[in-house]
Amino acid sequence: MAPPKKTILIVEDEPHIILGLQDALEFEGFRVVSTSKGKEGVELANRESADAVILDLMLPDTNGYAVCEELRRWNPVLPIIMLTARSQESDKIRGLDAGADDYVTKPFSVNELIARMRAIFRRAAVRPAAEAVEIGEARINFASHILTRRGEEHQLSFYELELLRLLVERTGQPVSRDEILQKIWGLDASPTNRTVDNFIVKLRKKIEPSPDRPVHILTVYGFGYKLVVERGSSA
Ligand code: CA
Repeated sequence: MAPPKKTILIVEDEPHIILGLQDALEFEGFRVVSTSKGKEGVELANRESADAVILDLMLPDTNGYAVCEELRRWNPVLPIIMLTARSQESDKIRGLDAGADDYVTKPFSVNELIARMRAIFRRAAVRPAAEAVEIGEARINFASHILTRRGEEHQLSFYELELLRLLVERTGQPVSRDEILQKIWGLDASPTNRTVDNFIVKLRKKIEPSPDRPVHILTVYGFGYKLVVERGSSA
């Protein structure tokens, strides 16, 4: 029997974008629900048990940030990719602060977004070897997406968690930036793509005693990254 279809919610007010994405996603075997209204998007996500959301930043009735915050209240671990026509860094940061996992700048390639959706569910289908893991002072619960360190809890985004999970699976071994990009984001290797590095910075802030001098998530120059679980020194 075929596994149940994953449901993707599209919240977007440009009909040609909805149509293009809907056709391509349905062709890939996803179920698609869509709306042009932010408020209805939150209701739909709930009612249709959305497995991932593609969310436009500029909507007629509200903005994507507000929708994102509402969605997060309902489901802290739902993968949310924000679409933005703007390229200003402040908008992206605000979107990520509101709980978006990542953003795609318009005009975007439908194939890229499809590849990202495929990668999200391919990774999510892999059951973790352990439910929780300790890296130095940080304890990561893969089920709840929560990282605890020095008594503080941090909610990890979908990509932060998956990136960490891949590094944990390969503890002590260098993992290339290209492989990470391919496995986690479903994207082709590109020397100009800083996505992986940006997420490494975020993880280091949450895990490392001093993020500028990492002892757990190490840079392998010209290649990628390597996770060291035990502290290298007592410094
Ligand atoms: Ca719009």
